[in-house]
Amino acid sequence: MATPSHSTQPTVLITGGAGYIGSHAVLALETAGYQTVILDNLEYGHKELAAQHLKAEIIVGDTTNRSLLDEIFSSHDIAAVLHFAAYIAVGESVSEPAKYYRNNVYGTLNLLEAMVAHDVKKLVFSSTCAIYGPPKTVPIPEDHPQNPISPYATSKLMVEKMLLDFQVAYGLQSVCFRYFNAAGADPEGRLGEDHNPETHLIPLVLFTALGKRESLSIYGSDYETRDGTCIRDYIHVSDLADAHVKGLEYLLAGGETSFFNLGNGSGFTVKEVIETARRITGKKIEVVLCDRRPGDPPSLVGTSDRAKSILGWQPQYPDIATIITHAWQWHQKRHG
Ligand code: UDP
Repeated sequence: MATPSHSTQPTVLITGGAGYIGSHAVLALETAGYQTVILDNLEYGHKELAAQHLKAEIIVGDTTNRSLLDEIFSSHDIAAVLHFAAYIAVGESVSEPAKYYRNNVYGTLNLLEAMVAHDVKKLVFSSTCAIYGPPKTVPIPEDHPQNPISPYATSKLMVEKMLLDFQVAYGLQSVCFRYFNAAGADPEGRLGEDHNPETHLIPLVLFTALGKRESLSIYGSDYETRDGTCIRDYIHVSDLADAHVKGLEYLLAGGETSFFNLGNGSGFTVKEVIETARRITGKKIEVVLCDRRPGDPPSLVGTSDRAKSILGWQPQYPDIATIITHAWQWHQKRHG
């Protein structure tokens, strides 16, 4: 006799589910009652965090491995896939584009082919606001021209194009989320950001506050912005995670392929982020003014009205001080 299933919600495969945004999404899915299976090659993911705080089965492997994907889809009743697994370092993608096209494009093609073969036709994809390139209008809407300026961003746009073609040819429906700057950590301190090497502003500011670094380099102070430093739209990782649950629900309810920005719609300069971090941590946080970092647009801020109106998404932690406070709690616990 078959074992009765106690699950009320479908099973979801999450690639890259042991990584920063992926792990928060798994937590949100599990809180909403979904069964979860993680596929992660653990190159950057953290198995111990996932094992400690998530219920998911963790399968160690790569999206480029077709026989592994076939095995996963054959042995699990997967209703949908959330696809986070990708390389994300813009600078590295310029010097090593093959690595990015192999993992981010070929790995995704492999996943999509396996999905179609196993009749799994719903996918939520991690895209990026970097596909827009230097903004012509701010805030950036979803129909802004697409002009990626790095192989990383091009790899994400190539997947978005593949997804449009896969909808037409195979009926695979997808939601592409174009993230602005993911930041913060689980408010309950279970999960957070831990990249190695770390390149992102908020963790580096907090490492400086913790005394792990002597100073924070400000990349460019001569931009045409209110204080000369770059403006970014920081979005809480738990709000991103919540959007993924809503994107999944949209697809499971029969929603068709669509694209959504995920940001807060308000921008903060690098200096404003540092000042907020000084206030929250009570630490001095030394800074050094440096040259601009190649490829950095002066200002990236998005409108997320589509996600709000179509998915019913509403950020719970839009305040930059809250985002930095949650990140600070996490970093003190993890690295303090
Ligand atoms: N930044 C900086 N110093 C650092 C890291 C980042 O001044 O050590 C700046 C960077 O130039 C950009 C902003 O902070 O303007 C956000 O950078 P991050 O790497 O966090 O995200 P990105 O916008 O590149 O996705």
